[in-house]
Amino acid sequence: QPQNAADVRALVDEHDIRFLRLWFTDILGQLKSFSINAAELDDAFENGMGFDGSSITGFNAIEESDMVAVPDPRTFAVLPWRPTDQGVARIFCDIHTPERTPYEGDPRQVLRRALDRAEQMGFDTFNVGPELEYFLFKDNKSTEVLDEGGYFDLTTLDAGSDVRRETVLALEQLGIHVEYSHHEVGPSQHEVDMRYGPALKMADDCMTYRITVKEIAMKYGWHATFMPKPLFGENGSGMHTHQSLFKDGSNAFYDPDDQYFLSDAGKAFIAGQLKHAREISAIFAQWVNSYKRLVPGYEAPVYVAWSRRNRSALVRVPLYRPGHEQSTRMELRCPDPACNPYLTFAVLLQAGLEGIEKGYELPEPMEKNLYHLAPDDRKRLGIEQLPETLGEAIEITAESELVLRTLGEHMFNRFVEIKRQEWDDYRVQVTPWELDRYLPVL
Ligand code: GLU
Ligand code: MG
Ligand code: MG
Repeated sequence: QPQNAADVRALVDEHDIRFLRLWFTDILGQLKSFSINAAELDDAFENGMGFDGSSITGFNAIEESDMVAVPDPRTFAVLPWRPTDQGVARIFCDIHTPERTPYEGDPRQVLRRALDRAEQMGFDTFNVGPELEYFLFKDNKSTEVLDEGGYFDLTTLDAGSDVRRETVLALEQLGIHVEYSHHEVGPSQHEVDMRYGPALKMADDCMTYRITVKEIAMKYGWHATFMPKPLFGENGSGMHTHQSLFKDGSNAFYDPDDQYFLSDAGKAFIAGQLKHAREISAIFAQWVNSYKRLVPGYEAPVYVAWSRRNRSALVRVPLYRPGHEQSTRMELRCPDPACNPYLTFAVLLQAGLEGIEKGYELPEPMEKNLYHLAPDDRKRLGIEQLPETLGEAIEITAESELVLRTLGEHMFNRFVEIKRQEWDDYRVQVTPWELDRYLPVL
């Protein structure tokens, strides 16, 4: 793994790289890229590369649009789907203002700020393990599936086996360690699990993962999608996010003497995410379609509770296995893979740290299947639920001091504005469901 500009230069020569794609991410988590000639590399590292930011969603308006992309040498990787001679590499960039200060509208910067807060509180590493699920469809115009396989199925039904294998190999070439890959519960649904790591690297890796999965699917003429709920009546695609905080190489969530093997910090961190779940929902589930996934019955969480086994709860704390202190963690089940991973990890971390700083109390675990609980019983137990629509979610976010502090004022205002607009566009649509239901009888 290169550490500095000199290391990158050596790799560029070694791999015959002619073009460097400078990657960064817009406010909604779309990957942005421009290509520079490898001969410009020294200039890029010294001065950054200028570009017009005014057309990037969430960036500055026209009057202050000259932004600078500053490559992060640790993120250099050769793109395996491009030719091997006169090849192409990518490098993630931090975005700076023309005055060369970190730009507050850059999602990477938002995550860096959250990590700084963790560091000030004595935690040097925020480890995350995201599990991104996706569907493979015949093309991008329909939702025609490739197979009728199900969870862990290994049959000829699983038309995705070859493409999954090639995807794993490509990810490994990009420096991403893959632990598992398998067919998911839905037809034509898949999951490839990356080994957990520090949050900034993992957010970059999520961006790399999504583009890699799409590129390799396209080689087969197929379309891979991270849309949260493409098929009515089937499971949607989640991005369960395993999380833990470390201090000097040891897991700050682990306590051998606790009944759940969770330290006070671990408990308060989970309590923080539960308490703030509703107001950060518009970040980890940011599309109209995200809320079609977060409904009872499809292994996606709805209710704000934690549990050790039960997958209908928002947070699961996997059972501790002796000798595995390092893997003591929480799993948050509500994010979906179409989120902006930088903003998502940033709000999750800030919500958790809030819990630690203010000493939030972790409620009792809920081991019942919450899907089966009657609404009155849930109310009696004080169990809240996630917002039911993007419209509801964004109005809660708009009131959130925590999200404002996490995103910074510029990005917060843009985000709320963009999401209100999206909800308004959707709200006025007349859907096929309405026509089917009402036209014959009204
Ligand atoms: N696809 C489910 C979801 O929407 C998760 C299935 C699983 O447990 O992996 O979150
Ligand atoms: Mg899964
Ligand atoms: Mg999981």
